[in-house]
Amino acid sequence: MSISSFHPPQRTLMGPGPSDVNPRILEAMSRPTIGHLDPQFVQMMDEMKELLQYAFQTKNRMTMPVSAPGSAGMECCFVNLVEPGDKVVVCQNGVFGGRMKENVTRSGGIVIAVDDEWGQAVDPDKLEEALKSNPDTKIVAFVHAETSTGALSDAKKLAEIAHRYNCLTIVDTVTSLGGLPVLVDEWDIDAIYSGSQKCLSCTPGLSPVSFNAAAVEKISSRKTPVQSWFLDLNLVMGYWGEGTKRAYHHTAPINALYALHEALVILQEEGLQAAWDRHWKNHLALRAGIEAMGLKFIAKEGERLPQLNTVTIPDGIDDAVVRSKLLQDYNLEIGAGLGALAGKAWRIGLMGHASNKTNVLLCLGALDAILTELGANITGGVAVKAANAVYA
Ligand SMILES: *Cc1c(COP(=O)(O)O)cnc(C)c1O
Repeated sequence: MSISSFHPPQRTLMGPGPSDVNPRILEAMSRPTIGHLDPQFVQMMDEMKELLQYAFQTKNRMTMPVSAPGSAGMECCFVNLVEPGDKVVVCQNGVFGGRMKENVTRSGGIVIAVDDEWGQAVDPDKLEEALKSNPDTKIVAFVHAETSTGALSDAKKLAEIAHRYNCLTIVDTVTSLGGLPVLVDEWDIDAIYSGSQKCLSCTPGLSPVSFNAAAVEKISSRKTPVQSWFLDLNLVMGYWGEGTKRAYHHTAPINALYALHEALVILQEEGLQAAWDRHWKNHLALRAGIEAMGLKFIAKEGERLPQLNTVTIPDGIDDAVVRSKLLQDYNLEIGAGLGALAGKAWRIGLMGHASNKTNVLLCLGALDAILTELGANITGGVAVKAANAVYA
C-alpha cells in the first residue's frame, strides 16, 4: 500500500451546498485542539451562543449547534418535540418537507399532509384549512427555503396561522440562515434548525438550532423519554447550558466549532442586512444573465430564493454532460435537479462566501460557452453583459 495524503482540487462551489468556504474559516479550523471542557473552550461556546442568537435574531437561551449536519438539526427538533400520538401538520413543497414527514412518523407522530406543487411556496390557505379540519394538531412544520426547488415560503405568515390554532412551529432554515431574513423572535418561531455549509459558508457537519420557552416547556413536560439519546435536549443542555459547570455528554467537534465561530464572526462583521443585500444583488445579476440567455426560473417571481436559483435545462441538453464540463473545464460545481426536477433543472447556488460577482460572471460565461458548443437553443454571447449591467 502506498496511499498518500489527499489533496482535493480547488473548486468553485455553486451548488445547493456546501458553498465556498472562506479561507479564514479553514485557518480557524487548523488552530490547536484543546479539551472540550477547557475553560477557554467553554468561553468560546458562550460566544458561539451569542453569535448564533444574532444570526437567528433571537434571545432564546436554548440556542446552540448540534454536533452533526443539518439533517441532525431537523431530527433534533422532531424527536424532542413530537410525542407518540401527536398530530403534526407538515407542509411539503419539495424534498425536505418529505423528510420532515418521515421524522414525524418515526417519532410516533401522525402526519397531516399539506402538499403544494414543487417550485411553489407553501400555500397559507391550505395550512389554515388543514388546521380547521384537525383542531387537535400540536405542531406545524415547514421549510422556509426549499433547496430542492428554489422556492421561498412566508415563514412569518405560516407561523402566525399555526399559533392561531395553538400549535408549535418547527421551521427548516438550513438554506435561508445568513442569506435571507430569519427573524426567530419577531416571527415567533418555536423550534428552528439550520446548517453550517450553506449561507454561513462554513464546513459541513454542524447544525445551529434554537428553541423558545414554549418549545422548552413541551420538551421538559414530555411523558415519554426522547427516543434518541444523542439528540435528547434534556441531556445536551447539560453541556451547552449556562455557567461553568458543564457535564460531559459527547466530545464536541472542537475544531469544527472553531470554524463555525469564525463563520459567525465574519457574518457579524459584515452585518446581517449587508449579507442579505449582497445575496439579493448577486441573484439579480445572475438572473439577468440567465434570462438573457433564454433560460427560465422554476419558482415564480416573488417566491424565488436569491441563494438558490433553479433554472430550466434547454431542450435536448443532457444535464450530466453540462455539469461534468463545468467541473472539468472550469472547476465549477452547480447542482443537479432533485426528485421531480431531476434532469429538468439546474440548481445554481449563490450562498454565503460564494455569493459574489466573480462567481456570477464565471458561471454565466461558462454556461454560455458550453451550451453554445453543445448547440443548445439559447441566445449566446449576451449573459455576461446582462449581468454586468446589473452591477454597473
Ligand atoms: C441541505 C439541507 C438540509 C440537510 O442538511 P445536511 O447538512 O445536508 O444534513 C435540510 N434542509 C434543507 C432545506 C437543506 O437545504
